[in-house]
Amino acid sequence: MSGLSAFSLENKRIAVTGANTGIGQAIAVAIARAGGAVVAIGRSSMAETERMVASAGGRIVSAACDLADASAKNLIGEVWQSLGPLDGLVNNAGIIRRADSVELSEADWDDVLDLNLKATFLLSQAFARHAMVENRPGRIVNIASLLSFQGGIRVASYTASKHGVLGLTKILANEWASRNINVNAVAPGYVSSNNTEALRADPERNAAILSRIPAGRWGRPDDIGNVVVFLLAPASGYVNGAVIPADGGWLAR
Ligand code: NAP
Repeated sequence: MSGLSAFSLENKRIAVTGANTGIGQAIAVAIARAGGAVVAIGRSSMAETERMVASAGGRIVSAACDLADASAKNLIGEVWQSLGPLDGLVNNAGIIRRADSVELSEADWDDVLDLNLKATFLLSQAFARHAMVENRPGRIVNIASLLSFQGGIRVASYTASKHGVLGLTKILANEWASRNINVNAVAPGYVSSNNTEALRADPERNAAILSRIPAGRWGRPDDIGNVVVFLLAPASGYVNGAVIPADGGWLAR
């Protein structure tokens, strides 16, 4: 394999959770541009993403699912049955709840951990089970965070969940590398999306964040998409259990 084909997703079908908006939407579009077919998983309308993928000349099918629901773990099997095998899974869907730790509610703990960590595990497990039965190689990319490395402020459940995502990425990589299932993560920095709306709306926090980013700007969702494509593509076949920060230099500072 040579040149750009090492970065091609031609003939690959990739599921992306939370593909209706933000980073997940940009990942879906980047996959399509790299030649892959997208299975867009989420609880909201995928109409906008479908339009964007179509205008990039790509293919997309949507699968409606609330990943907080206990039945979500069956989704991968249903997709596999109805559409055919998956070559990759991007665990992108995630939520954040902000509160001082002394006040954070149990519901804000459970909701965040259930989606960001438990659903990531259960979908990955289902993906690996199906791939292993058919002896197929596969790729899993988890969306981690700067808060996989740092503590943050007023986001206890989110920080715990994203530290967990990093640990999970490593153990699943260890267990599944020999079965040709690569598990890796991308850690986005501060990216303009719904997730960070409250921070960008607070002039003080916004200025403090911007002044600490070496690149001098907020990330855009499309800064993340092609990093994920790399981890789904043949080029990264010997990358296992790694996390790639895409953070404008934040962690290097
Ligand atoms: P976002 O715009 O808020 O997108 C979050 C996505 O998760 C949406 O598609 C959302 O769907 C989906 N989702 C939430 N709850 C769900 C559920 N119960 N079932 C199915 N889907 C659900 O935020 P984002 O910034 O793009 O976040 C994407 C990922 O990047 C998250 O894992 C986040 O933690 C991570 N991340 C973001 C940043 C950042 O600065 N933005 C930095 C580091 C990591 P709905 O629209 O239906 O709610």
